[in-house]
Amino acid sequence: MATITEQQIFDALKNVNDPDNGEDVVSLGMIQGMQVKDGHVAFAINVDPERGPHLEPLRKEAEKTVHDLPGVLTATVVLTAERMDAPSNSGGHNHGHDHDHAQQQASVAPGGGSGPQTGVDMEILAGTRAIIAVASGKGGVGKSTTAVNLALGLAASGKNVGLLDADIYGPSMPRMMGISGRPDTLDGRTLQPMENYGIKVMSMGFLVDEDTPMIWRGPMVQSALEQMMRDVNWGDLDVLVVDMPPGTGDAQLTMAQRVPLTGAVIVSTPQDIALLDARKGLNMFRKVDVPVFGIVENMSYFACPKCGERTDIFGHGGARETAAQMGTDFLGEIPLHLDIRETSDGGQPIVVSKPDSDHATAYKAVAGKVADKIEEAIAARASGAPRIVMD
Ligand code: ADP
Repeated sequence: MATITEQQIFDALKNVNDPDNGEDVVSLGMIQGMQVKDGHVAFAINVDPERGPHLEPLRKEAEKTVHDLPGVLTATVVLTAERMDAPSNSGGHNHGHDHDHAQQQASVAPGGGSGPQTGVDMEILAGTRAIIAVASGKGGVGKSTTAVNLALGLAASGKNVGLLDADIYGPSMPRMMGISGRPDTLDGRTLQPMENYGIKVMSMGFLVDEDTPMIWRGPMVQSALEQMMRDVNWGDLDVLVVDMPPGTGDAQLTMAQRVPLTGAVIVSTPQDIALLDARKGLNMFRKVDVPVFGIVENMSYFACPKCGERTDIFGHGGARETAAQMGTDFLGEIPLHLDIRETSDGGQPIVVSKPDSDHATAYKAVAGKVADKIEEAIAARASGAPRIVMD
């Protein structure tokens, strides 16, 4: 296959114009942090903070333009609002574009409430000590990558971990966990989960061919999910990590309502925090009385592969602020780095393939916080601590 060069990418991007002034993004010097490795391309488009929220179509166009080039396997483009005069290593500076509508929320005490929640089926996964949902306001923010590395981080600390791919519209766990084949059944009734890197995995991707077109209707989605919980021989687990379907629609809400979730982790990018999508995720879980453990900011900043210099991406730091405003915790930030993409897309997630790398360490730190939150939630539930939930 043809190898792609930086020059070819820049040439192609000369056809992508800034909608506000008609000039192309290369001539305007908006392209930043270009990374090209084995057909995988990532870069940022530098824009004014005020314009960021309106430039999603530009970002998409640039991504498609590069993705369509021969020799390009993947293209990841983010908007950044790094000011030329801003320090490049700031840990939490904010450009003031978190369009906050001052929706102050009361904080939610962690832990389960008093008695079963409406609609929750407590029989589901009775042998599992804690069930954690990993969710996002929209697709493509790195939810599955986070779920996998979080699960592996929990396993690395000695826990018995399961991973359920509930993203049945686009199951990615077989690929990310490097597992192929079909699950066995020992009794003709229940399925044995698949296993790799010491964790048990179940995904609709094991049960149907990847290229089989699937048109799921609401009730089918629900029953498929319930089967993957109920009719799979999970055994005794310390934690089941559930990779939720992206978004906050009815299917997600129903799912969150039916499963006795111990807590939820929201994954978002700086852009999607600016666009308020992360808040929708938070509010969805609050509506169904599930404690939100906190927010992980993914693709939070660039770590330049050549010089190691850090470039903050549009709105970086927004997650920490949003978390504080929403009365939930900030669980950590994961940089945009091709190593993360290659390892997760190649079936060797970074927490197992490069366990001592900075990125793996960042994921393990998130896992450590989540493990603490699980204990808090279980203790609070046992003590019947009252919860305050406000919409
Ligand atoms: P989602 O589950 O939200 O749709 P995925 O986890 O499938 O998102 O990630 C979308 C793409 O972005 C994948 O190709 C993944 O490898 C890549 N990706 C996720 N997080 C990062 C990161 N921090 N750095 C680089 N690439 C990432």
